[in-house]
Amino acid sequence: MAKVQIRRIASYELPLLEAAVADFLSHAHRLRMKRSKRVLLKPNLLGNFPPERGVTTNPLVMEALVRHFLDLGKEVWIGDSPGGTVNVDRVWETSGMADLAKRYPVKLVNLSTAGFRELQSGEFSVKISEIFWKCGIVVNVAKYKTHGLVGFTGALKNLYGLVPGLAKSNYHSLYPNSLDFSKLLLALYALTRSRLSYNIIDGIQGMDGLGPSGGRTRNFGLLFGSRSVSALDYVAATMMGFAPDDVPYLEEALRMDGILPSRIGVPTSFHGYVIPDADLRAVRFSNRFLRRVPRSARHLMERLYYKRPVISNRCRKCEICVQSCPVQVITPADKFNFPEIDPKACIRCLCCHEMCPHDAIDIHKSLLVKMVER
Ligand code: SF4
Ligand code: SF4
Repeated sequence: MAKVQIRRIASYELPLLEAAVADFLSHAHRLRMKRSKRVLLKPNLLGNFPPERGVTTNPLVMEALVRHFLDLGKEVWIGDSPGGTVNVDRVWETSGMADLAKRYPVKLVNLSTAGFRELQSGEFSVKISEIFWKCGIVVNVAKYKTHGLVGFTGALKNLYGLVPGLAKSNYHSLYPNSLDFSKLLLALYALTRSRLSYNIIDGIQGMDGLGPSGGRTRNFGLLFGSRSVSALDYVAATMMGFAPDDVPYLEEALRMDGILPSRIGVPTSFHGYVIPDADLRAVRFSNRFLRRVPRSARHLMERLYYKRPVISNRCRKCEICVQSCPVQVITPADKFNFPEIDPKACIRCLCCHEMCPHDAIDIHKSLLVKMVER
């Protein structure tokens, strides 16, 4: 039986986090924990967002993990590849990871620049950072959020940060819609799952609405952990209020792991618990709806059923969206104008919306999306 640990933790307090992390990790793969010396902690560091926005894994959760592994005498690396061409040094600073590296003997590693292995999984050829293969213990430390493209982002979607930055942009242009992108995520999962020692989702603070960066920051007060990525995401997503088929990779991930939802163990106090007021309207129905459209009609449907980014006057002309667009269809700002998106060339991957640090990109929905989501 796959087990998911859950703690109610109202705010980021180090002693509480240390106790939870120690308890969670007592369920991790023991032999690997004992034998391996080097630990990779893989947070969600999507971009240049401060911890209080609820977009990135909180540095206090990371600190609890760092202290745990240093106490065990391990060598600790913290690694991610933020989206687009974002300056990684700024992300380390803003997210609180640089501060951790000043106070503890840990190494920050940019997964975009350390080389990669390109591996085949089904029809997909996936580039995965070399760092991932160099660490005997890998702890996946995700964030609890909605996601404009695939509905929900937890432990499985966090693995996308193992792909070097420029390859990520390329995949977004190759697989722009939610169904194809989810298949790529599942291929990545198939290639990496056996090396994941443990998985945590930081849901003490998270996000609903139109995540993963422009939604509403929420104090969910929940910390989740499991050895199984698919069981963990299933429990966390359904607790947020998603039906399993709202998230296009979820049921297939469970199938790959041979896990039946009814056989996933959670603490008794969380049986049947659903967060009462999570706002999923903007992300929930799209995926389920699209999946029921026959493949032959999908092209037409995508022309009628879409969400497209629009740059608002909240824009501060930082140019991050320009650099993040995988198909380079955003014209840079000038003295008088905001950046401009070419609507005909836009593939609607929503990377620009995801990466904008100032929540300045709105999502306009087609009439059909509005009707379906009503
Ligand atoms: S839309 Fe956002 S990311 Fe793009 S330039 Fe404006 S503030 Fe920067
Ligand atoms: S403009 Fe935004 S949504 Fe359109 S292709 Fe570029 S990053 Fe994707």
